[in-house]
Amino acid sequence: MFETLSDRLTSVFSSLRSKGRLSDADIDATTREIRIALLEADVALPVVKAFVAQVKERARGSEVSQALNPAQQVVKIVNDELIGILGGETRRLRFAKTPPTVIMLAGLQGAGKTTLAGKLARWLREQGHAPMLVAADLQRPNAVQQLQVVGERAQVAVFAPEPGSGVGDPVEVARRSIDEARRLNHDIVIIDTAGRLGIDQEMMRQAADIRDAVSPDETLFVVDAMIGQDAVTTAQAFMEGVGFDGVVLTKLDGDARGGAALSVRHITGRPIMFASTGEKLEDFDAFHPDRMASRILD
Ligand code: GDP
Repeated sequence: MFETLSDRLTSVFSSLRSKGRLSDADIDATTREIRIALLEADVALPVVKAFVAQVKERARGSEVSQALNPAQQVVKIVNDELIGILGGETRRLRFAKTPPTVIMLAGLQGAGKTTLAGKLARWLREQGHAPMLVAADLQRPNAVQQLQVVGERAQVAVFAPEPGSGVGDPVEVARRSIDEARRLNHDIVIIDTAGRLGIDQEMMRQAADIRDAVSPDETLFVVDAMIGQDAVTTAQAFMEGVGFDGVVLTKLDGDARGGAALSVRHITGRPIMFASTGEKLEDFDAFHPDRMASRILD
């Protein structure tokens, strides 16, 4: 991801290398190139506008260091602004004062929620926690079984309705899972909810009902970074329909242009907290805005 954007920005910077100082015309030309590079990378227009305005203002200002040449100054400004647009600091998980900490996952079908549930559970287990996965996606045939497979691979417990138990209500499953976690001393509960292929009122309502029933400490919106501008529309719909505290970007290993990753924080006002970079359980980490910015400017 970001290859094209990286290449475009690199060529913008290299054209500045021969300059002794930057005139306003140079700055205008440079920011116009940056604007095109971002739009080509599928970054949402309001984000591009805000970004370019910031870069322009800072490039014209006197705050930049005299120790850097013009190209270096622009690289530094773009780097700082990329970190800013990606959220600044890494936002860590908030744990409940009284366990279990409840983490709810929401997102479209295929976004990578179930896989992510396993990755997050494994990651937390490796940090000494005792998470429990909860199968509250009772819509998709096989979803429960898929979570059980993921749980086995991640070596964490999975709470799911017994086949034939008659419990077909995901809200009830989620509610019961909290009692079960307390009884079995699990300090974290990760609830996998149902997704649909498109934005759907019933799915939103179900996710909102689960949220109301268990009051999650963190509701995470899981979004496929490969879906480009649709990621922004989907994020807005989930923000309105369910609300969330943080974003998880999946499939960052793909060859999409990366605009979703650069837009979602600015559009929703919610931090990107984790990133998924492959199908294996280890392909996962906390999201670090500074490292992502370096990757783009590499
Ligand atoms: P869910 O419907 O939201 O639960 O999505 P799944 O967890 O079933 O994932 C959908 C597909 O995306 C599966 O084939 C996963 O293996 C794949 N997948 C999930 N995360 C990633 C990722 O970070 N990178 C890649 N390349 N594939 C992923």
